[in-house]
Amino acid sequence: MKYSTPRPPHLNNGKGLNKALLPDVREYLIAQGIEPKGRTLWIKVVCPFHDDKAPSLSINTQKGCFKCFACEAKGGDIIAFHMQLKGIGFVEACKQLGAWEES
Ligand SMILES: [Zn+2]
Repeated sequence: MKYSTPRPPHLNNGKGLNKALLPDVREYLIAQGIEPKGRTLWIKVVCPFHDDKAPSLSINTQKGCFKCFACEAKGGDIIAFHMQLKGIGFVEACKQLGAWEES
């Protein structure tokens, strides 16, 4: 499955996604109960999208893009990660991540 992050149409008038408000990737993972090991740009974590035993999911700690080498879960940013993890849509994911501005 492919997940892309649509650009909100109202991005230009001060509403919608504000990427500056997105959480730090490491802090986000910890909040989801996923331990981010290592200090490198790409780290491997236990994949939350399948019954993972060994860390199979690679995630970029700056951009949040990720790919699991076992179950093929992948996405371009932490919003896509959260959407897949919770099974929710783009706007709801942005809101839960605290990066959605209503006005
Ligand atoms: Zn996986």
